[in-house]
Amino acid sequence: MYEGDIASVLISEEQIRARTAELAEDIAKRYPTGAPEGDLLLIGVLKGAVFFMTDFARALPIPSQMEFMAVSSYGSSTSSSGVVRILKDLDKDIAGRHVLIVEDIIDSGLTLSWLMRNLKTRNPASLEVVTLLRKPDAVKIDVDVRDVGFDIPNEFVVGYGLDYAERYRDLPYIGTLDPEVYGG
Ligand code: 5GP
Ligand code: MG
Ligand code: MG
Repeated sequence: MYEGDIASVLISEEQIRARTAELAEDIAKRYPTGAPEGDLLLIGVLKGAVFFMTDFARALPIPSQMEFMAVSSYGSSTSSSGVVRILKDLDKDIAGRHVLIVEDIIDSGLTLSWLMRNLKTRNPASLEVVTLLRKPDAVKIDVDVRDVGFDIPNEFVVGYGLDYAERYRDLPYIGTLDPEVYGG
C-alpha cells in the first residue's frame, strides 16, 4: 500500500501494540475502580488519535468511557501555530470526572497546552495526558506529560492515525514520508 511514498518504517505495528499494552497497564494502576467520580474518561482528539485511542482503551484493564473533540490549529499542513479553534466540542460535562487526554503526537505542544487550559476550566477531578509519540521540541512546553509511547526524531511521520493531506492514516505502522510526496 502507498508503494514508494513511505521512506522508512519508524515504529512497527508490533512495537506499537507492545508499548500500548505497557502504557495501559501502568496508567490503570493510578485510577481506582469503583471511584465515586465514575469510570476513567478518555478524551481523544480527532482524527489523529483515533487509532491509538481505540487500541489503548481495549488494552486498559479497567473500565473507561470515550469522548472526542475536534480542533483545528491554524498553520501549514506540516506545522502548527498554536491558534486553536474547536470544530467539535465534547458532548458531555467533564466536571468531577477523571480525564485522560489521549494524543497521537506532541510536536510544538501548542495544541496540547491550549487544550489543557481549556479543559481545566471545566473542573475535572483530574486531568492527565498520554501521547503515543513525542518530538524533541515538546521539551519547551509547560505541560507535564507523564506518559509517552515513543520519543521520535524531528521528522514528519504518517500512519496509525497520522495523515498528510488526509492520506496514510490507515497504515498500521508509523513511517516517514518520502520528501518527494510533499514536494521536498
Ligand atoms: P503541535 O501543536 O504539538 O505542534 O502539533 C500537534 C498536531 O500537529 C498533531 O496532533 C498532528 O495533527 C500534527 N503533527 C505534528 N507533527 C506531526 C507529524 O510528524 N506528522 C503528522 N502527520 N502530523 C503531525
Ligand atoms: Mg493530536
Ligand atoms: Mg494532520
